[in-house]
Amino acid sequence: MIVAILGAGPAGMSCANACLSFGLSPVVLERGDHLGGAQRSNFHPNLWMLGFPGESGEAMTQRLAEHYRALPVLTHYRTQTSGVARQAAGFSLALAGLDTPLHANAVVIATGTRPRGTPELEKLAAGNRRIIIGPLSHAIRDHIQGANVLILGGGDNALDHALFLAERGNHAVVCTRAGLSARRPFIESCLLRREIDLRTNCPMPRITCDGDQVVARWPGRERGFDWLLVMYGYLPNTDVLEVFDPGIRPALTGGGYLHVDAWQRSSVPGIYAAGDVTDTPQPSVPTAMAQGLTAARAVERDLAPS
Ligand SMILES: Cc1cc2nc3c(=O)[nH]c(=O)nc-3n(C[C@H](O)[C@H](O)[C@H](O)COP(=O)(O)OP(=O)(O)OC[C@H]3O[C@@H](n4cnc5c(N)ncnc54)[C@H](O)[C@@H]3O)c2cc1C
Repeated sequence: MIVAILGAGPAGMSCANACLSFGLSPVVLERGDHLGGAQRSNFHPNLWMLGFPGESGEAMTQRLAEHYRALPVLTHYRTQTSGVARQAAGFSLALAGLDTPLHANAVVIATGTRPRGTPELEKLAAGNRRIIIGPLSHAIRDHIQGANVLILGGGDNALDHALFLAERGNHAVVCTRAGLSARRPFIESCLLRREIDLRTNCPMPRITCDGDQVVARWPGRERGFDWLLVMYGYLPNTDVLEVFDPGIRPALTGGGYLHVDAWQRSSVPGIYAAGDVTDTPQPSVPTAMAQGLTAARAVERDLAPS
């Protein structure tokens, strides 16, 4: 029984590992060049993985990837799925650049999320390295020193990065349209630091670039910053569903995540989803890995001859 797994982050890798132990044959289709997903470039210590205190996301990813590479799992990198259709006993997946479609008895979507920006900020960020969308950039660790930084957003990532930067001699203005949604310990720590200016109910500034300065304009005032970090949260990578035949596109939640039951089954029989692409209450590596495992177990049960 072949299980096509889209995405080689923690959810996809864990699902492939579990498929092997249930006697299924996983084939992993990864869009990028690497294993590991979002944590691959997270230089912060991993907060949620019990048993590895202080280990960074990067180090954890290396550990998971090393184990994964030793498994007999067929993994295609730089793979673009260009079509998914229902076929007798499963699905046919057309892969860009390959003549022969892949036949799979089940499909597991484990495509994760990407940082959310706005079209204007994404356009500016493409031409200016001092505007960074989302937390996964080594420039935050390696290049921001003794700087004035504007952070847009009021969640965990915004405040965690304000603290990270303040500890390294930077000043941060955190600007959020409404109240702060970050965890209480982050808020309390930020309030104790002189280098951090928390501004709630703050209108979103208009951003322009002037040489090495990022200029933020609010009604009636403007200020230049050395860096802008946009921490607006994440969007699920459900764009992959556009290549699924309309009759087999799984239902989404109101927030645009893949809707699944407790067994990680989507609304379409034979299609499962795991990890951050689903609407999970606490996105994390252990959650994604547990969901990948559950999806494999569900496939094994659902495909077993009755
Ligand atoms: C800054 C930051 C810090 C975090 N800190 C922690 C932490 O300390 N501890 C913790 O446990 N969790 C942490 N998390 C959360 C954790 O990274 C995620 O919950 C976890 O990576 C989700 O795994 P996933 O496999 O669902 O998705 P991802 O890790 O996002 O992996 C998805 C994979 O799918 C691929 N993909 C996308 N679209 C396609 C497509 N169409 N076809 C094929 N492949 C595709 C991507 O390239 C990627 O490899 C953090 C996240 C961030 C962003």
